[in-house]
Parts: sequence; structure tokens; C-alpha cells
Amino acid sequence: MPDLREVGRRSVPAFPRTLLEFQRLFPDEGTCAVHLEAVRWPGGFVCHHCYWSGEPWRPKRQATVLRCAACRCDTALTAGTIMHRTKTPLQVWFWGVYLVTTQTPGMSALQFQRQLGVKRYETTFQMLHKLRAAMVRPDRDRIGGRWPVEVDETYVGGKTRGEGRGVHHKTLVVGAVEVRESSASRTRTTVRRRNVYAGRLRFQVIPDRQGETLRPFVAAAVEPGSAVTTDGWVGYEGLAALGYRHEAVVIAGDQEVTDNSLPMIHLVFSNFKTWLQGTHHGVSPRHLQAYLNEYVFRFNRRFYPMTAFNSVLGIGVRIEAPTYEDLYRGEWCHPKLTEAAEVASTG
Ligand SMILES: [Zn+2]
Repeated sequence: MPDLREVGRRSVPAFPRTLLEFQRLFPDEGTCAVHLEAVRWPGGFVCHHCYWSGEPWRPKRQATVLRCAACRCDTALTAGTIMHRTKTPLQVWFWGVYLVTTQTPGMSALQFQRQLGVKRYETTFQMLHKLRAAMVRPDRDRIGGRWPVEVDETYVGGKTRGEGRGVHHKTLVVGAVEVRESSASRTRTTVRRRNVYAGRLRFQVIPDRQGETLRPFVAAAVEPGSAVTTDGWVGYEGLAALGYRHEAVVIAGDQEVTDNSLPMIHLVFSNFKTWLQGTHHGVSPRHLQAYLNEYVFRFNRRFYPMTAFNSVLGIGVRIEAPTYEDLYRGEWCHPKLTEAAEVASTG
């Protein structure tokens, strides 16, 4: 176990590669607290009250509290993180982050509840939503650049749990994916005979297919100057004027032409829908963006699953999590999106 007094000034420790290693690294609250402290204050503890920096006191029997040696105020390790005011042990959170970031299909709240022996379904439901909120990098880059990008929309929906048979909610989703050339044997998603695979991905729930909706999505998701392939839908007109090398394929409802022209984004849509049905058995439209975020996060890190863990913890300590009420009203907006809306409204 690392020395508590030194860890604050160390870089974040390497992450375990197996379940067994994970279990050995994080056997109790204390070891989780040490890791969290290292992620939150990589340069050493800074007091939230007086901004004093240095080695804090560590009250006994309170693994998640640090006490400032100058002003003697307490700082909770979880304050301002996705675990803020949590009654759930850190260890359960750590298992949660590990399981949702490293298991290829992710995990439903029900599976999670059973595997960790958590009493209430609501507890794990909220935990997973908070973890999903941490799965969007606030400062993420636009995709494309040297790689061409395919953009298309699809309807996502189906039976929703608890609403009986035959109730369908179709929600429109737009996606953009890089088409990368493979040089190594790492290729997992080969499309036909071309040696290509899917690079980075972006998904967003949209209200309609109008140009006023689709063009801003492309502008926010794709690097200007990139080659962008879409179908011939009028909503994509004007991308060239925004600086893209735009290729619009006239499909005219022909499925075969569609699959030949936009194979990667269609494959991604299809895999996403399989995952949504298989793991989560469909979700309500108001929560769909959170599931899109989770899918995109794992998809973009699928070659480096272990880095996803620290990424969720590392991001999670810098953003405010949605509250219980926010989750149920479906009104919670990621800080990045709120910021964008404020910029838009102020000109
Ligand atoms: Zn202080």
C-alpha cells in the first residue's frame, strides 16, 4: 500500500489489468481514498477554504476527510465530484467505475445492483447515471482532420421498460464517425474488403432533420476542412460553405446504395442499437443522451479500456454531477453543453 503522506505529490498510480489486481489494489475505503486524493490533487493537497497547500491532517476513522493544517477546515475528498454527499462506500463506486469502463458491453443498473449487493435499485441507477455524466470530456476535440468522416441520422426506440407492450418512443439521433485506414493488425471493425476501421465517434439526440439542426452538429463535432460524407438530404446542404469537403451521396431510398456509401456509420448505429436492447432493454427518450454518451465514451476508448477508469475518475472530480431530481426531470445538461448554450445566447 502506498505511503499516505507521500501519495499526494505523486502521479496517479498505474491501473490494474485484471479483476484480481483491482481487488488487491482497492481492498478498503482507505486505499480508494488514497487513489482519489492522487487524482484530485496531483500536485499536492490544496485547501478549499484558505488555499493553503501542503500536507493535510488525516482524521482517524474518516478516510474521506482531509483537514487543513493551516485553517483546520475539513475538505471532503468527494466534494464537488460525482460522488458528492454519497452514502455509498467509495469502494462500491470504484467497482462501479471499473465495471462500466472495462466491460465491453457495459452493465445495467440491475446487474450492477446484484453483483455489488447494493440494497436499492435506485442507488445503482443513480450511480450509473452519475458515472455516465463523467463520460463526456468537457474539453473534447472535434473529430476528423486527416480522417474522413461519415455523418447520418437514425431513429432509436422501441419498447420501454415499465410502459407495457407496444409503446414506442422513436428518438432521432445524429452520428459522426471517422473512417480510419488500418496499418496494423489491430483492426476489429473491418468493413467489406477495405482495410478500414471506425475511429472516434460522436452521437447526439436531435429534435428534427432540419439544416438548422444538422449543420451546427457537424460544426461542433467535426474539424473544419475534413472530408465529410452524407446522404443527399437537403439538411446537409451548406457544409461546403462551412469549410468541409462535403460529398453528398444521392441514395434515393435505395438500401444497398446507402450501405455502400455510408457503411461505417450504419455499422455503428446497428451495433449501438444491439447494445441498447441487449444490455439495457431499451431506455426512455429523456435518458437516451446519457446512454449515447456512455456508448461513445467506451467506443472511443475500446483499444485502451484501462485508461477509461482514471479518465472517469479524473473527469468526475472536475464536474458537478446531476442531482436525483435533475435525472428524473431529464433536464440535466452537461456543463459543456450549458456553456455552449450560454455562448450562443450571449452572441
Ligand atoms: Zn485551509
